[in-house]
Amino acid sequence: MTQQELQARYEAVMMNAFGAPKRVFERGEGIHLWDADGRRYLDLLSGLAVTGLGHAHPGVTAAITAQLGSLGHVSNFFASQPQVRLAERLAALTGHPDARVFFTNSGTEANEAAFKLTRLTGRTKVIAMEGAFHGRTMGALALTANPKYREPFEPLPGEVVFVPFGDEAALRAAADERTAAILIETVQGENGVVPVPDGFLAASRRIADEVGALLWIDEVQTGLGRCGEYLAHQADGVSADLITLAKGLGNGFPVGACIATGRAASLLQPGQHGTTFGGNPVAAAAGNAVLDALEGGVLENARATGAWLAWAIEALGHPRIEGVRGRGMLLGVVLTRDVAAQVADAALKAGYVINAPRPGVLRLAPPLIATPEDLAGFVEALPGLLDAHG
Ligand SMILES: *Cc1c(COP(=O)(O)O)cnc(C)c1O
Repeated sequence: MTQQELQARYEAVMMNAFGAPKRVFERGEGIHLWDADGRRYLDLLSGLAVTGLGHAHPGVTAAITAQLGSLGHVSNFFASQPQVRLAERLAALTGHPDARVFFTNSGTEANEAAFKLTRLTGRTKVIAMEGAFHGRTMGALALTANPKYREPFEPLPGEVVFVPFGDEAALRAAADERTAAILIETVQGENGVVPVPDGFLAASRRIADEVGALLWIDEVQTGLGRCGEYLAHQADGVSADLITLAKGLGNGFPVGACIATGRAASLLQPGQHGTTFGGNPVAAAAGNAVLDALEGGVLENARATGAWLAWAIEALGHPRIEGVRGRGMLLGVVLTRDVAAQVADAALKAGYVINAPRPGVLRLAPPLIATPEDLAGFVEALPGLLDAHG
């Protein structure tokens, strides 16, 4: 079956939620993907910051396979060993001895769980950031700023207030005794890889404490090594009351988590929230295998290779590149013109998978295991791709 035939079948049967697929991929290994016509690509997107350990990671594959072959699913009426172990390990990442975990299947569901927790404080107002992305289900969508995503689905859950990302005075003015939580990303990935301005996380922590609100940090895209730390916000020396995780947690197996610390950890009571699949033994085995693999120097590599990649792209001195921003292996190449979509298409034709979260920004989220040698070909190809669409 050729790629073209599969694309036609896709378009005939799939809802048109994502537009026409640009490729049909057949297999992956490490940092590479192969399409249905047998063509090889260098993956600099990792399935949207998901497959940080590379495709077909042997440790994750073995863990999932073994778990499914012994105990695949039991429902949340019951517990399993991998689930308890993963919860202990995620709780330990926060550094809070009292942290507790609720497992989900995705990022948006992790945020739904956290959103429901904020209601249990007895307060109903949530302050989120302009440019924020928190997911597509109705609750997470209410917390997402982009009017294009929100407006067709209004009315959404209410009392969400947006303030400019990084504007301490605006946050202070919006926060009051009715505020249940302040919600923030360490890097706004979907908004074009915009890192939180220096000092703003710490200011958010202070303001949350002043008004008795929870500080909720969405680490769905930034967590688990993507930005060079287990939790990106830890580099800012800030501690959160609610942390949501998903993308990188299962290296492609769907699993997410909402972690709460302090008083937020005991808000949820039996019957108030639930999930059939969340944290099932296979998902938990995937999460444990990812954490095992991250222990082997992956974070250090993500920091070093990410810093090299940002430097190497800026060192091109290309007139169409305004600069590179981001943290670790989550980088945005800011262009001087809104040609990112065309450049991403040209990159794909040349054998490089990247994407354009904003009209003028390319997003690079290579596997965390990639080395400068792995990525050097892309850096060399970039000027030609930009010249063709200048
Ligand atoms: C991707 C993303 C989500 C949504 O995760 P899904 O698994 O797609 O539901 C939420 N928050 C952030 C910051 C994300 O990047």
